[in-house]
Amino acid sequence: MSITLDLSGKTALVMGVANSRSLGWAIAQQLLAAGCRVGFSYQGERLRGELEKLTAPHPGTWIQQADATSEDDMTALFERVSTEFGTLDVLVHSIAFAPRTAMEGRFLHTTADDWNTALNVSAYTLVSAARHAEPLMPNGGSIISLTYHASRQVVPKYNVMGVAKAALEAATRYLAADLGDREIRVNTISAGPMRTIAARSIPGFGGLYDKGARNAAFGRNATPEEVGKLALFLLSDLSTGVTGQTIYVDAGLSIMTVKEGSPESKD
Ligand code: NAP
Repeated sequence: MSITLDLSGKTALVMGVANSRSLGWAIAQQLLAAGCRVGFSYQGERLRGELEKLTAPHPGTWIQQADATSEDDMTALFERVSTEFGTLDVLVHSIAFAPRTAMEGRFLHTTADDWNTALNVSAYTLVSAARHAEPLMPNGGSIISLTYHASRQVVPKYNVMGVAKAALEAATRYLAADLGDREIRVNTISAGPMRTIAARSIPGFGGLYDKGARNAAFGRNATPEEVGKLALFLLSDLSTGVTGQTIYVDAGLSIMTVKEGSPESKD
């Protein structure tokens, strides 16, 4: 189903598109379809070609390399935003990372280095991006990020990423309070399991995905397109009264223990 929202004249920065399966790309597609001007940042030169291919059919888009943990890269990125757009209406943070070692063993054995890396990349970068965006949003704006239910319930092997997502959700509320006077909204979308590069790096993700599909209220997982549509709502003037929230798009997975009739309900 196509949604017609008019974001022409609006400007957006999307951080964290690795390929066409990325949730950041699902969101960008909705923004582009709504007529928004969109710039993209990517972490490493390895991803440049992929992003060039994705954005080529969309006139007016631009891309810039930026490691979100580098203050120099972030300064250069937001200077580019200022040069290209003047002001910014929309910021999409779709970035997460935890070292593999932190997701293989017991949570108890998380090292300080792995903890710091996961929380720095997956949570602090939202704070940093919002700080850089604030001066470019004189007329208000909307900032979103992506989180996951492991912030609230234990998901095996998600480990320190669950803590990082809890930090991201708390940071969303504190940022929303700080930026509220300027009518800059800050929300986070809690997405159900989706097959992306980041998800594939989580040990046991395949089983988690299949179990989600069996036990969600809808009897299926939510889709990246559904994430994109919720994002479009949060990034548009339809949601001007909404800030500081964690909003689920998971086909009703998080409200269920097991779905009646699923194999798990018969154990
Ligand atoms: P993805 O396509 O792999 O996107 C993650 C992006 O984060 C990649 O482009 C990655 O770049 C980037 N990134 C990592 N470290 C970075 C850094 N230091 N600076 C800049 N960019 C960095 O996977 P995704 O699933 O769409 O993930 C997007 C967001 O959705 C994440 O916050 C994730 O936790 C969240 N989420 C995903 C699911 C799911 O099931 N897929 C569910 C709920 C929430 P590189 O490839 O260069 O590392």
